[in-house]
Amino acid sequence: MSTILYNDRFIDRSQGKVDMEDRGYQFGDGIYEALRVYNGKMFLLDLHMKRLERSARELRLALPYATDHLAENLDKLIKENAMDYGYVYFQITRGAIARKHRFPEQPINTVLTASVEATDKDEDLHADGIKVSLLDDIRWLRCDIKTLNLLGNVLANQEAFERGAADAILHRDGVVTEGTTCNVFMVKDGVLITHPADHFILNGITRIFVLQLAERLGIPVDERTYTTAELLAADEVFLTSTGVRVTPVLQIDDRQVAGGKPGPITNRLLEAFNQDVEQFVTAVNA
Ligand code: PLP
Repeated sequence: MSTILYNDRFIDRSQGKVDMEDRGYQFGDGIYEALRVYNGKMFLLDLHMKRLERSARELRLALPYATDHLAENLDKLIKENAMDYGYVYFQITRGAIARKHRFPEQPINTVLTASVEATDKDEDLHADGIKVSLLDDIRWLRCDIKTLNLLGNVLANQEAFERGAADAILHRDGVVTEGTTCNVFMVKDGVLITHPADHFILNGITRIFVLQLAERLGIPVDERTYTTAELLAADEVFLTSTGVRVTPVLQIDDRQVAGGKPGPITNRLLEAFNQDVEQFVTAVNA
């Protein structure tokens, strides 16, 4: 039995029921965040909260209470569930009202739910590299908002899985955007290249963190669009997300990329990332 957060209350998971006319259920009208917990503490919390506030603003969705209070509640939730390592997931929908596309005329209560998933400390990491599929990006044009509407991501992720790949790298008319659950980086001639943070991609918290690491390590960065042909000819390719941190890509469909092994810049970033996580873990212990 696990405890979940329901608006401002902590209840048993079995008691967590959402109205069938909730707009999150009807339209995917809501936003979410997922963050990682190391040694009982949330990693990169402030960046996640800032992104949540931005998503809420973009959808004109009122948060039920301030993010400081939300952070306190999430902290309590982790403690209630005695979780050392894992994920916290939370979402906020516009609430329940008779189904109409337009926003409710009367203010209604938004619905916030949060839950945790305990994992091993290094769950989902694949430092040895993975295979991905290259697929069409069929999503809408506001991929910068972290909304519950993930059908384009879900379909591509499933197709990748059915092709024996761990994820898909998406492209719009030959321009690489991101993965279905992650951002994509490539390295060419010592330069780290990734799609700019515009409305075609979600500006991943891990993406932001990796760009900071690159600056710290003196690795040149170019935030620009690049084509699938450039991707296939890259010296290194890797994915970033809260779940996978930095994961080398060694194969795209039936083509080997990046010489078939994790490259030096990928490894440096991965090492720096892991060191920062270790420091975070020890800081919590202190
Ligand atoms: N892009 C998409 C489409 C995602 O769903 C995610 C994570 O869920 C990311 C990028 C990576 O974001 P983050 O680093 O904040 O986990």
